[in-house]
Amino acid sequence: MAQHFDILIKRAALRTQSGQLSEIGIRDGKILALAGYLEGDATSTIDAQGNLVTESFVNPHLHLCKAYTRQMMDEEALTGYHAEGMGKAMTTIELAARVKEKYDEVWIIKNVRRALAQAAMHGNTHIRAFADVDPKARLEGMKALVRARDEFKDVLEVQVCAFAQDGMVREPGASTLMHQAMEMGADIAGGIPWIEYTEADIQQHVREIFDLAQKFNKDVSMLVDDAGDPGLRSLEAMAIEAIRRGWQGRALAHHARAMALYAQPYFQKVAALLKRANMAVVTDPHTGPLHARVKELLEEGVTVCLGQDDISDGYYPFGRNNMLEVAFLAAHLLWMTTNRELESLYDMITVNAARAMNIKEHALKVGAQANLVVLAAPNVLEALREHTAPVHVISGGKLVDRARMESLARTGEW
Ligand SMILES: [Zn+2]
Repeated sequence: MAQHFDILIKRAALRTQSGQLSEIGIRDGKILALAGYLEGDATSTIDAQGNLVTESFVNPHLHLCKAYTRQMMDEEALTGYHAEGMGKAMTTIELAARVKEKYDEVWIIKNVRRALAQAAMHGNTHIRAFADVDPKARLEGMKALVRARDEFKDVLEVQVCAFAQDGMVREPGASTLMHQAMEMGADIAGGIPWIEYTEADIQQHVREIFDLAQKFNKDVSMLVDDAGDPGLRSLEAMAIEAIRRGWQGRALAHHARAMALYAQPYFQKVAALLKRANMAVVTDPHTGPLHARVKELLEEGVTVCLGQDDISDGYYPFGRNNMLEVAFLAAHLLWMTTNRELESLYDMITVNAARAMNIKEHALKVGAQANLVVLAAPNVLEALREHTAPVHVISGGKLVDRARMESLARTGEW
């Protein structure tokens, strides 16, 4: 039966079907048909030329309000160096805080648009974006992210995470600001419990973030155990609280770098808790020397995914929201190099990341949302080797306008 499609992709290699090519018919935002041959016509026809077509990329962790602030920091450091000789003594965190005192939606929004346009060009259709919420940053990052979420809604989905970067208990005023951020329309309640001074404060931080999540009926993201101290216990606290509150499947753990140093029996206990809490772990091995025990977590059946984490800020100099590049770096840093492991890495930037972010139907199958990338490589190995931007990105059944995104990525002007 001949059908009409909005987009028809021909000669597509699929990850699940080696040696044969497929055709994918898209209409009204969804994958309408998938077969070796589809009869019908289309408004746009794409010839994939035997290259890979997969689910689009999903980035579950990005400090979006900080994107491209590195240059400001360098200038700050230089200024400090010449003024009273203070620059050399300052730590990155203190410099980061100084940048936040200058936070203003007016300049943040331009950086945010540049980063999101780059993300779209590189095939991302979903991003969990963190906005610092504290007395220095105030709600300026939140304002910019909420605005960009709306501007980009036809291109990609931004989940705005209100993030208590400087703590809830140790930082006076943070609780009130976090409440205001949730009222502004944050999609996610975000915490960082390990940064508190005492064990009791860590527990209180976890409880306060879950209180916000429950009050506003939102999911939770927390940066946990993000230092080289094997005694950190905030991942465990987060998992236990998720189970207590019935928030299984609604809490996502980030970083968990101290996991690399956990004693084995303790690691096994935490892995069991993660499974009971149906809690996934986002790791970003390129932004720090320690990282979550990815291979062991996968063996235990815990969902693991990769995040970009930072783009040119005080913590990481590079980044362009290219998840193939993130996976390429992870392949080296995690020593995941067999074909099975490369496929696993590809899952970690597509379907696993979508599951972690509670995105429904992120699958290349009939009836699912048409969020796809058409790559310039025939298989996962070659896609990772070159990690070039997709030839075409389809978001919500529509082709992403590359020229428009390139212009936005340059100017930041909507
Ligand atoms: Zn991070």
